[in-house]
Amino acid sequence: MATLGNPKNTIEILNKYKFVFQKKFGQNFLIDTHVLDKIINSSHITKEDFVLEIGPGIGTMTQYLAEAARKVIAVEIDKMLIPILQDTLSTYDNISIINNDILALNINELVEKENAGKPIKVVANLPYYITTPIIMGLFESHVPIDSITIMVQKEVADRMQAGPGSKNYGALSLAVQYYAEPYIVANVPPNCFMPRPNVGSAVIRLSRYQYPPVQVENEKLMFQLIRASFNQRRKTLINAINNDPNIPYSKEILSSTLEMMNLSVNIRGEALLLSQFAELSNRLSQLQG
Ligand code: SAM
Repeated sequence: MATLGNPKNTIEILNKYKFVFQKKFGQNFLIDTHVLDKIINSSHITKEDFVLEIGPGIGTMTQYLAEAARKVIAVEIDKMLIPILQDTLSTYDNISIINNDILALNINELVEKENAGKPIKVVANLPYYITTPIIMGLFESHVPIDSITIMVQKEVADRMQAGPGSKNYGALSLAVQYYAEPYIVANVPPNCFMPRPNVGSAVIRLSRYQYPPVQVENEKLMFQLIRASFNQRRKTLINAINNDPNIPYSKEILSSTLEMMNLSVNIRGEALLLSQFAELSNRLSQLQG
């Protein structure tokens, strides 16, 4: 039975171990059972599933995950939390704890070894200081993933889900939406955590596409174009791309390509859909060849 997830039991554990929160590790522990239930329900975990939890803290969500899943691997950077986890998770026999930095871990190797390379589910109340590197690392290294259900800063969840025309639309929206379908499950206020973060939070589920929603011949070029156009989002797409020394296309080539796509030469990157960035990069990469 999950015993944490409420303020009283959490404080008891923290006091027992004289635990000192480490700001540098983004430690804000969940103390609200409704939020925990929501995360577990929206992650659609079954007894067949292998779950990777990033940053288990004192094991609050890990207890819930262990009850829902076949196997849980929890990766925690803070060595002071390891004896606590060994205590709070002692009654479960389907949890392995790894004391490591998630960014330093070869997750592909782990999935190969522990789950025969079959898709896993990732669930986490993420440390906010490294949300983007964690998510993009999982996608870009092509870890076999079914879904990622995570607590992130509200503003980051909005950026992941945004489309053209929204002020939140940017390189992160396009990168995430190339790999997965985002869905914001719930907004979570600061009082659901201990200590309270300074920002609002949200739970977002990213359901990994089996095949990307657009065909891209040169992913690297598409993401270079996306990054260049949002690095200078007030400039026209042509000027923003032309100012990037790593992208070798002249203004003339860019203009004629946009015209072939029936787009204005004055259009800004923030108006383009993922499918249009894909088409632009496909047309440009053909020119190169
Ligand atoms: N899952 C717990 C909960 O919901 O109460 C804790 C969530 S807390 C927001 C983030 C956790 O990630 C902390 O336990 C922190 O120590 C851990 N963490 C921070 N950076 C990490 C990293 N690079 N690799 C693994 N864990 C990390």
